[in-house]
Amino acid sequence: MAHRNKLNKKKRKALIITLSYWLTALVICPILIGLGLKNIALIAFTFLLSGGVVFYLHYYYCILCLKCKKSLGFVIFSSSKNFFKISDELTFCPYCGVSFDKEV
Ligand SMILES: [Zn+2]
Repeated sequence: MAHRNKLNKKKRKALIITLSYWLTALVICPILIGLGLKNIALIAFTFLLSGGVVFYLHYYYCILCLKCKKSLGFVIFSSSKNFFKISDELTFCPYCGVSFDKEV
């Protein structure tokens, strides 16, 4: 499997985990409100903020170069508008130079 395919898989996984978290929050928020918590804005803000933290942690600390193990999250996220795969223009790791099309 090419390095690019593994990074695409990690990127999709990070997106799915983050979306799952926010969907769960959408279910839990009405339950908390039904239990008597009145401050809806505080509940929503807390879930959005913690969802953002989940997103940040996955993108920036779980998407690593397979060779040098440095974080590629920022590079991958900022170079592609597609949430499901890395940009085709990104062809190598900026830290160690390994090709993303090379078989691992
Ligand atoms: Zn690298």
